[in-house]
Amino acid sequence: MKAVTVSPAARSIEVREHPEPELRSPIDVLMRTLDVGVCGTDHEIGAFKYGTPPVGEDYLVIGHEAFGRVIEVGSAVARIKAGDFVVPMVRRPCPHETCVPCRADRQDFCATGDFRERGIKGMHGYMTERIVDHERYFVSVPSSLREAGVLVEPLSIAEKALEQIEALETRLPEQARHSHTQPRNAVVLGAGPVGLLGAMLLRAAGYRVLVYSSVLGDVTRISILNEIGAIPVATETNTVEYLAEVAGEIDLVYEATGASTLSFEVLKYLGVNGAFVFTGIPGRKTAVRLDSDRVMRQLVLRNQVLLGTVNAGRSAYESAVRDLTSFMQHWPQAVSAMITTRVTMDDAPGLLAQRTPGIKFVVSPDAI
Ligand code: BGC
Repeated sequence: MKAVTVSPAARSIEVREHPEPELRSPIDVLMRTLDVGVCGTDHEIGAFKYGTPPVGEDYLVIGHEAFGRVIEVGSAVARIKAGDFVVPMVRRPCPHETCVPCRADRQDFCATGDFRERGIKGMHGYMTERIVDHERYFVSVPSSLREAGVLVEPLSIAEKALEQIEALETRLPEQARHSHTQPRNAVVLGAGPVGLLGAMLLRAAGYRVLVYSSVLGDVTRISILNEIGAIPVATETNTVEYLAEVAGEIDLVYEATGASTLSFEVLKYLGVNGAFVFTGIPGRKTAVRLDSDRVMRQLVLRNQVLLGTVNAGRSAYESAVRDLTSFMQHWPQAVSAMITTRVTMDDAPGLLAQRTPGIKFVVSPDAI
């Protein structure tokens, strides 16, 4: 069968023949891949700056944001059956008995760093016609998400962030926690898929949301933000100081750009008892000049929290399925506008090699 692959040593991205996967154990599930999203991580892998093939192999099948349909299941599979729509999770646990998070199925908090990620680190990914994995790494998706199911994985990143923020809120006295009568202010940095999905999630959670981004000249993004009731603030024409003025007391910054200079500039304006959540992974090493006394003084005197979050656990994927279903009911155009380009596997290498304008690019291995 065909697969889109990256060879770091040969510095090549190509469509090649890849062995057909098989059901090898009673807990295996065979999935036909319908859609695979492309994100910043895939572009980094396509630029040979990130990504590791499985041990002993010289290429990696790329792709970790997948949506598919079950073809066949092993005899011990109970929750999933042939014909079901599913999303496979990305990370697999490390082998170490001492890794408490991995042994508790929370490899998104792996303590050893020896986890593997399909399509990213040490395991082939999903940009291929069929894949097999254990039942416990699949999340069921209703057929109503046929068009948008590929957004479940990127949304799971925002869902894990929100889970963490809600857990952190318990440090505050009950009366000061998030209440719908007094909307709290969130600033989202970035209007890529993770930023826009994060903005949707925070709007749904009752926040007043400002999105600060350099790509707001784009009518599609503006219409998405209008539909969900978020306020666009363009970086080109508005300083961070102005953003802070419009935002008022900033309770939460949700970072989804990987831009460290911008992030630490915005951190200066984080409000009292505020939280700053980083989800982006900077590609290049930017040396940021930091007013460290000011940052540290503020962190202490304003009871602030800085939080990094990566990957997602099962509960975040399940919340993503539920919330995406509700976003589609409330903001149907915004959700469908998120997917700007669909291509076949043959066009994927060109797409991975360069960044082109658009929001979410989807490769459909099933398309003829
Ligand atoms: C993926 C995560 C992954 C992270 C680090 C992100 O693009 O969505 O699942 O953990 O990259 O490799």
